[in-house]
Amino acid sequence: MSGPRPVRAHRGTELHTLGWQQEAVLRMLQNNLDPEVAEHPDELVVYGGTGKAARNWESFDAIVRSLETLKDDETLLVQSGKPVGIMQTHEWAPRVLIANSNLVGDWANWDEFRRLEKKGLTMYGQMTAGSWIYIGTQGILQGTYETFAAVANGRGGTLAGTITLTGGLGGMGGAQPLAVTMNDGVAICVDVDASRIQRRLEHRYLDVIAASVDEALELAYTARDGKQPLSIGLLGNAASVFPELLAMNAQIDIVTDQTSAHDPLAYLPVEYSFEEWAAAREEPGFIEASRRSMAKQVEAMVGFQKAGAEVFDYGNNIRTEALTAGYADAFAFPGFVPAYIRPLFSEGKGPFRWAALSGDPVDIAATDRAILELFPDNIQLAKWIRMAGERVHFQGLPARICWLGCGERHLAGLRFNEMVASGELSAPIVIGRDHLDSGSVASPYRETEAMKDGSDAIADWPLLNALVNTASGATWVSIHHGGGVGIGRSIHAGQVTVADGTELAAQKLARVLSNDPAMGVIRHADAGYDEAIEVASRLGVRIPMTEG
Ligand code: NAD
Repeated sequence: MSGPRPVRAHRGTELHTLGWQQEAVLRMLQNNLDPEVAEHPDELVVYGGTGKAARNWESFDAIVRSLETLKDDETLLVQSGKPVGIMQTHEWAPRVLIANSNLVGDWANWDEFRRLEKKGLTMYGQMTAGSWIYIGTQGILQGTYETFAAVANGRGGTLAGTITLTGGLGGMGGAQPLAVTMNDGVAICVDVDASRIQRRLEHRYLDVIAASVDEALELAYTARDGKQPLSIGLLGNAASVFPELLAMNAQIDIVTDQTSAHDPLAYLPVEYSFEEWAAAREEPGFIEASRRSMAKQVEAMVGFQKAGAEVFDYGNNIRTEALTAGYADAFAFPGFVPAYIRPLFSEGKGPFRWAALSGDPVDIAATDRAILELFPDNIQLAKWIRMAGERVHFQGLPARICWLGCGERHLAGLRFNEMVASGELSAPIVIGRDHLDSGSVASPYRETEAMKDGSDAIADWPLLNALVNTASGATWVSIHHGGGVGIGRSIHAGQVTVADGTELAAQKLARVLSNDPAMGVIRHADAGYDEAIEVASRLGVRIPMTEG
């Protein structure tokens, strides 16, 4: 049957494929499209503007059919969301290899991409949408928590008594209110889509909705003065609300934004109402209008910076679009990676995530306990795991994320595998990560902005990352273009590996979960970061140019 329909991952221990490796792929593909997980499941859109899980419903059905009969020594090839071949390989090879949205350099722009997409030849895979390891807003929550914790570190370790202003409450941006309140701060979050605001409220990522700008400020000041955490949703266009707040001299301490600015069609210009948006997208001049609005928003952000606020770009490329629209000062504030995340990347640290294929939240609670036991000295990690256990609402298959580094991830993977083998967990666990990781992405406006040696645009690293994960025994591996910041601006890779309790899985996990983060260490050591050089020598990560 082709065509939109509700999709939900299988649960329990009954297999619908020839083995757990294939079953894991099937369940995670289905899970990406679960209405609880995907932002627009009928259009196969998972998150991040138009990030899709499959090219169309016929392709989805063909992928499912292929997985149902795929053998342990076969590999399914997926080209931008369409299954294109099944090859005989071997049991150490990935069961699925994925390439999404890739274009040759000179052709790598949105116009050409959309032309090809209209012809049905490609699909936008974002990062974990087309590589089937999106776990809902929690996936970004930990990264967002880490970022705001880093902001807090510069303010005595807490955001209590501060107000953060941001835009966008979509799949990723929806993590912002909870990440701010987890750090004890107050957040005002602006979105044009009332349904997105409502969804975050229902999932308890957002505390309250304000009816007006004045009410939002009143609520924010009261909470701030009482040092109480509070997140406030505000319906409005960030391109008008941000300048309005600036003009009111609103007392805002931290400003950022996660509207879908990476794609001008997914950002609403001030000229149009939300209801007019879908039709307006087709009009000539929409993209220019969208960029002009982004310029207004960025100009207000720079205004807040001049007024003393801490301002950063949160990875949606809004500065570039504002610059394109003619706002010359767009890069006055930094991206969040050089500002807060790079020291973590240098240690190979990044968003490690896993999901329970059983569908049973009890399995995730057991893995949470295992993480606390494995890393007893990591206080920030323990704080996160405890808060996540209490406050994170699962979307789709129960899952967990935490940032772990090189020398740590394989310990978690092997422990989970033992727990599957012993029956402590009721079914296998899939272990993957975002493409936003330390050694898996080249993205000069985000993850690799302002690298120490100027190597921002060198894209050999994510390709080597995909190759080494393929060679190490990952269950599925992907190479994407354009995730996060849009077509022409990034190349990145993903991996997911299944802990099914077997000895073979243990061997694969030991290699993948060591080599994958080690790519981050060597990438940053190569760029001259001292932390990375120190970690490499401490953990025995071999770098030929430093040997002999
Ligand atoms: P999304 O499409 O699910 O949500 C975007 C939201 O922005 C929507 O709710 C939309 O209504 C709102 N919006 C659009 N125009 C607006 C305007 N003018 N004013 C107010 N709200 C407006 O996207 P997402 O998954 O939440 O991702 C948001 C952005 O963050 C993307 O550009 C994405 O690439 C980027 N991103 C950043 C990171 C990171 O680590 N920082 C990670 C992933 C994605």
